[in-house]
Amino acid sequence: NDRIVSGEAAPFEGSDKALRPQTLSEFVGQQQAKGNLKVFIDAARDRGEALDHVLLFGPPGLGKTTLAQIVARELGVNFRATSGPVLAKAGDLAAILTNLEPRDVLFIDEIHRLAANVEEILYPAMEDHVLDLIIGEGPSARSIRIDLAPFTLVAATTRAGLLATPLRDRFGIPLRLEFYTTAELQHVLLGAARKMGTPLSDDGAEEIAARSRGTPRIAGRLLRRVRDFAAADGAAVIDRGQAARALARLEVDEAGLDSLDRRYLRALIENYGGGPAGVETIAYAIAEARDAVEDVIEPYLMQQGFIQRTPRGRIACGKGYLHLGLTAPPAAVN
Ligand code: ADP
Repeated sequence: NDRIVSGEAAPFEGSDKALRPQTLSEFVGQQQAKGNLKVFIDAARDRGEALDHVLLFGPPGLGKTTLAQIVARELGVNFRATSGPVLAKAGDLAAILTNLEPRDVLFIDEIHRLAANVEEILYPAMEDHVLDLIIGEGPSARSIRIDLAPFTLVAATTRAGLLATPLRDRFGIPLRLEFYTTAELQHVLLGAARKMGTPLSDDGAEEIAARSRGTPRIAGRLLRRVRDFAAADGAAVIDRGQAARALARLEVDEAGLDSLDRRYLRALIENYGGGPAGVETIAYAIAEARDAVEDVIEPYLMQQGFIQRTPRGRIACGKGYLHLGLTAPPAAVN
């Protein structure tokens, strides 16, 4: 998925580790999650205990990994990171768990993709800080129990609904991350530009923020591309006009839609009369895989009220018609 407006990290995307906020107070937005976390972190630190396990859920690029790192830093403990798909065998997880020091933070990204046999050894580890391993095979097999240091699991998932209930129930601190407001992203962008040494005006930041789909990762990526255009144009500062011109060349429109989003909307409205149309049908019309349509195109269009999902299929809302410069039929939903 190589769209410039994707919330997921591109495989070889330039590392912006230097731009990552380092402390809870530097972390912009997510007031609710941040406020709760601060209370629990302070309490755990004062008692000298491991923080309860934390589940972070929300769309890609909203700061789950960043927040997990901040939790470790605020607790003053080590941070270990891995991910669901990487942990193929129970032994992979066992090796990591046995190396943790007391109160360390273990971050598991994409926890919903954990293999069942790995998930099984995670339960007693989370609950009782023990590891139950089977050694050997057949009649000589025996199980051994290893004590682990009390640790904090911080897990991230894009869809909490995909987690098995017994796993979900083992997180004492579930936190949902929300899309950011334009003002919050403007703040993120001004901070990033300062760290990059790029002159960015308030209105330039606002223009980029408004097109970033509520997602800091997209905001950072758009800023880097806009900066390239500004350099090529010899612009001294990135203001609103400079940002808007660069984003137009990147085909990211005022609402943050790219050409793929617009193709989807156009197909739904022009080929299927605004729906209802099945997702398969629309995917076929725009020559995209059904999964890609459901995972990377529809969520933002729905969240922004351009389309709606109904039992009979997708329908275009009034806002979808207006966005393409079309007149919405009187029956269109708003
Ligand atoms: P996720 O794990 O949810 O996919 P990341 O934590 O990797 O997201 O964040 C993606 C990018 O956005 C990182 O470069 C990070 O520095 C930046 N970022 C995320 N949240 C914030 C925030 N609240 N303030 C500033 N930058 C942020």
